[in-house]
Amino acid sequence: MKHFKAYEIVDKNTYEALGEDALRLFPYHSLLMLDGLREFFDVPITVNTWHSGGQFQWRGFRTIHCKEGAKQSYHRRGMAFDCDVRNYTAEEARKKILSNEDDPLLQYVNRIEDGVNWLHIDSGTVPEGKQRIYLFKA
Ligand SMILES: [Zn+2]
Repeated sequence: MKHFKAYEIVDKNTYEALGEDALRLFPYHSLLMLDGLREFFDVPITVNTWHSGGQFQWRGFRTIHCKEGAKQSYHRRGMAFDCDVRNYTAEEARKKILSNEDDPLLQYVNRIEDGVNWLHIDSGTVPEGKQRIYLFKA
């Protein structure tokens, strides 16, 4: 992975157990999705913050120890990330993605979540008949 360290996308316990090998918990295309998003916006993107003293540790991979979010969430399969994009509100980031959905840097982004104040991206399945990047409401 080019732009992120494992501690930015896994929780503290997982990182302490696996170190950078924690990247192996993720399907490779999900790592490409996040790197591609970083290059598309060309500004820093924040997922977890625990490593620098922040409160977030479940915005990337969610283990069985995580009590947040849905049981079937793509976060639990290493296929989803909740992001802050520097200089963009979540709504601005979603709009920019949807109006550039054919950009090759976004090719692994399949779904984004509407109506939340962070940018959720995942490489989950798009329902048949929906647009290439599917805007869903939880
Ligand atoms: Zn999410």
